[in-house]
Amino acid sequence: MRRVAVLGATGSIGASALDVIARHPGRFRVDVLSAHRNVDALVELCGRFRPELALIADPALEGTLARKLKAAGLRTEAAAGADALAEAAAGPLCDTVLAAIVGAAGMASTLAAARAGKRLLLANKESAVMAGPLLLDALRVGGGELIPVDSEHNAIFQCLPGGRPPLARAGVRRLILTASGGPFRGRTRAELAGVTPEQACAHPNWRMGRKISVDSATLMNKGLEVIEAHVLFGASPDAIDVVVHPQSLVHSLVEYADGSVLAELGNPDMRTALAHALAWPERIEAGVAPLDLAARAQLAFERPDLETFRCLALAYQALRAGGDAPALLNAANEVAVDAFLAGTLPFLAIAEVIEATLGELPPAPVVDAETLIHRDLTARDTARRIMRRAFC
Ligand code: NDP
Ligand code: MG
Repeated sequence: MRRVAVLGATGSIGASALDVIARHPGRFRVDVLSAHRNVDALVELCGRFRPELALIADPALEGTLARKLKAAGLRTEAAAGADALAEAAAGPLCDTVLAAIVGAAGMASTLAAARAGKRLLLANKESAVMAGPLLLDALRVGGGELIPVDSEHNAIFQCLPGGRPPLARAGVRRLILTASGGPFRGRTRAELAGVTPEQACAHPNWRMGRKISVDSATLMNKGLEVIEAHVLFGASPDAIDVVVHPQSLVHSLVEYADGSVLAELGNPDMRTALAHALAWPERIEAGVAPLDLAARAQLAFERPDLETFRCLALAYQALRAGGDAPALLNAANEVAVDAFLAGTLPFLAIAEVIEATLGELPPAPVVDAETLIHRDLTARDTARRIMRRAFC
């Protein structure tokens, strides 16, 4: 029986994971659930899954959570705050941690789970982008395993022999990440000037949280995934390509030295990757409809438009710059996306804010989590200053 902690349980990935878990009561037990501020949804999940511990990230809500758990007649214990999250991720209540918090807020608990040798199911790509070298160190020290949940990385993991071998020894020439192109594929810059958060969040193929939906619309999501692929699989930036594939049926590909290209296909439903990661190396039912290839008229592929969707180019640039540049990119992106969602920053300005932030802050080596958090805050302040000056 796997004892699972679902961090970010009230989100889109959390819901998909709990759906898969609920299909296999004899195989998984949910012992830890977390949310940021959504106490009611968390208590409702506690009623369904009866975990030992419920965590609310906002410390001001600990009392409310405890009261509502009690009122619901639940024996689940309540805790709050970022430290409690990291402690639970490393603690004895779980052997498997689903890192499904959105953004840099997921970094500490992701690193804690890795350091404690848990099976880490990584959806929170921002922590790999920010703290790649620290995550790899933590995995080495902890001796646990990381199974990628992001559909592209999960596909690549499935197409590599033994999951994550040294790529050169496995004869791998290239990793090819597929991108849907998001809701604005094919549009010109002029057509993107006035787009709204609602339009940006209306993804054609996937239902996701708002932050990653905007990232998909700017192609920053693919940029973060290029960096994530570099961290997880050790591929150089030149050996990671992106191809736009609007149907989102091919989740990514691995090209070998002999010219073979292996791909993982399936319907666009995160429960497939989550079921794979939860049960690996076994396979379990995920509730996903079979892929009807004959009913799909075509699989199309095209090159990404890096001139219109500057964020993807900026991510490659940050990866090549090295050091903590990816963390700075991620921080500036989070601030700019928040402002766009709040209606105070135009869509096209997201890339401009990130570029200007990277221009002001030369990369520094990644030494430890504390320094990284400090640099993350500096990049956020810089991005806010740039936004105030130029856009707000
Ligand atoms: P959602 O916005 O739907 O959910 C985010 C979850 O994180 C919620 O449980 C939220 O709690 C919690 N949370 C938000 N802020 C904080 C914080 N500061 N501290 C602690 N917890 C917090 O996001 P998604 O499920 O879409 O995405 C989660 C992660 O998975 C992201 O990193 C995303 O990039 C990645 N991912 C998502 C995919 C998808 O299909 N959705 C696909 C591949 C990767 P509350 O409800 O209380 O706000
Ligand atoms: Mg993805």
